[in-house]
Amino acid sequence: MQPTASELVVHDAAIRANTATFAQLTGGRVMAVLKADAFGHGAIARSVLEAGACSIGVAALPEALALRADGIDAPLLSWLNTPDADFAAAIAARIELAVPSAAHLHAIGAVAVRLGARASVHLHADVGMARDGCPPRDWSALCTLAREYEAIGAITVTGIMGHLSCADDPEHPQNTRERLMFENAARTAVRRGLAPRTLHLAATAATLTGAVPGFDVSRIGAGIFGIDPSGTTRALRPALTLRSRVVSAREVDAGTGVGYGLDYVAERRTHLALLPVGYGDGLPREASGRAEVLVRGRRRPIAGRVSMDMVVVDTGDELLDPGESVTFFGPGEAGEPTVAEWAEWSHTIEHEIVTRLGSRASRISRTLDTGPAAGPAAGPAAGRAAAQTPAADTVAA
Ligand SMILES: *Cc1c(COP(=O)(O)O)cnc(C)c1O
Repeated sequence: MQPTASELVVHDAAIRANTATFAQLTGGRVMAVLKADAFGHGAIARSVLEAGACSIGVAALPEALALRADGIDAPLLSWLNTPDADFAAAIAARIELAVPSAAHLHAIGAVAVRLGARASVHLHADVGMARDGCPPRDWSALCTLAREYEAIGAITVTGIMGHLSCADDPEHPQNTRERLMFENAARTAVRRGLAPRTLHLAATAATLTGAVPGFDVSRIGAGIFGIDPSGTTRALRPALTLRSRVVSAREVDAGTGVGYGLDYVAERRTHLALLPVGYGDGLPREASGRAEVLVRGRRRPIAGRVSMDMVVVDTGDELLDPGESVTFFGPGEAGEPTVAEWAEWSHTIEHEIVTRLGSRASRISRTLDTGPAAGPAAGPAAGRAAAQTPAADTVAA
């Protein structure tokens, strides 16, 4: 891979520290949720497991299979699949499956019978947001059916899971309602003859605020990447930096309009710099007119609309050099904008910023920053070598 002008730096130490924080909060019962390519952070499964996560959860089965193919041996749970998903591959790879419906149970059961294997499943209850999971009215029948598949040796119900709708607000009355729904669902499962060992309801927000008890496992996604949906802690560290380099720069006169529609008009003689990152790379177009970047230690506004491939920055009295580094966001320690600010400028949440910029941003290379040995201090050659191996499975720190 050629070195690209734009780079996402994944801060391994921050991910490890955040994971350790949740391991401590939960008494060592963290399922790291690494869906959407680990929220756009890439191959960090080994880091979270070394830092105290016990298992990994993902949405779709291919995400789980990819982790197995990468040599990740920890328990894996996948919870969002159509009934025709490749459950044979899941069973062969010892991937646990969430079951939201009878159709899923029949599909998994049939595959298990054919293979002569036992699938490990978590029955997934919708406890209140009418999104994923089994609707309350179908729950009892699902438990009965699961017991029948257990009796013929096709499955074992190892867990019951639910997901909260309003946990980012610990005072919301829905939290108690949904906890009671969940406890009720678990009781029904036991009454139907099941013996689930692992109950799990809480994700990042509930774990930070204690809105509901942690039960046996907490499924932590956002928090591992330094995102706190509840806004209640300062203990988490952002884990992503996006920087790029100047393509070209110029001086313009007062009154010069910039970009499509000429939305931005220079108030005085100023300098502009062109950066090769746009909405095609995941930079939100919605942030046009508000977003800033950090260059030479100063915040500078993005001038005009975010284009598909590029943006223009107004650098005031400074004429930048082609190739010069500019930071779009980072942990904020050097005064650069944070992902939280980009989310605000784009009228969205941090989760969307990091996932849209991470996994699918083909023109942006991703580097795992594993500490001083692979950091900027080691020089540009080391940085480039790391960029060429985005899998970076050999975590040194
Ligand atoms: C995404 C997801 C999580 C993780 O939630 P965070 O708030 O990111 O910790 C947990 N459980 C389910 C079912 C999810 O879809």
